[in-house]
Amino acid sequence: MKIDIVSVFPEYFEVMNLSLMGKAQAKGLLEIKAHNLRDWTHDVHHSVDDTPVGGGAGMVMKPEVWSECLDELLGFSQPSGSPAPSGAPVLIFPNPSAPLFTQRDATELSHADHLLFGCGRYEGYDARIPDYYRAQGVDVREYSIGDYVLNGGEVAVSVMLEAITRLMPGFMGNPDSIVEESYTGEGALLEHRQYTKPAVWRGIAVPDVLLSGDHGKVDRFRRDEALARTAEIRPDLIAALDCKALDKADRKT
Ligand code: SAM
Repeated sequence: MKIDIVSVFPEYFEVMNLSLMGKAQAKGLLEIKAHNLRDWTHDVHHSVDDTPVGGGAGMVMKPEVWSECLDELLGFSQPSGSPAPSGAPVLIFPNPSAPLFTQRDATELSHADHLLFGCGRYEGYDARIPDYYRAQGVDVREYSIGDYVLNGGEVAVSVMLEAITRLMPGFMGNPDSIVEESYTGEGALLEHRQYTKPAVWRGIAVPDVLLSGDHGKVDRFRRDEALARTAEIRPDLIAALDCKALDKADRKT
């Protein structure tokens, strides 16, 4: 998968060379390139922002700089009115006032060939930027990563990128580790609690059933715990469950 990221702090993405993300790049599974938005400015100050139309505090990212940059990275040869080139990347803007990014989005995007992220700063980017590229036929997404406001899109892009790339075939050393996880699959629940050895630590024992060697009972215990934890912590996920994802024993839980 090819990933381009545009930011006024491209150095932020040097951490992508570490850990599993670094290994995936070394294996050729991922190709990540961070670009400096200021490279597309023409003034001596390399300014990317201006005051908000209509007044108010802070600054807004200018559409002209973004469009020069995005036209080039999207492969638009004639910026105005030309349709999106075939094979254009999915264009993603993090935005706290957008729909929430979920595991479902991560799963869908893990199949894309090319993603292009645009990191906002200040009060955000001019709203006409995503509108314009959508009108040109580009697949434009805006996502929030949670109900809070960050200083910039860099952290949000890192979060989305990690959620997306770990779902790519070949990314994880053990592919089974992403099959049974919170928010995953048809009847997405929070995962059951996890334990390792020793069986008793500081006087606290792991649940007996996990030591029984009875896989049927272990599975039932974990499933019941997942249902109970989800009902308590995230009742919205229980409300959204498709009844077909429940078995008879679940209905008794
Ligand atoms: N004025 C905006 C508002 O109130 O909705 C906040 C702008 S924020 C300070 C600057 C940038 O950080 C945003 O354009 C976005 O790219 C990023 N950002 C901040 N919080 C975010 C969140 N929860 N999810 C996704 N992106 C976020």
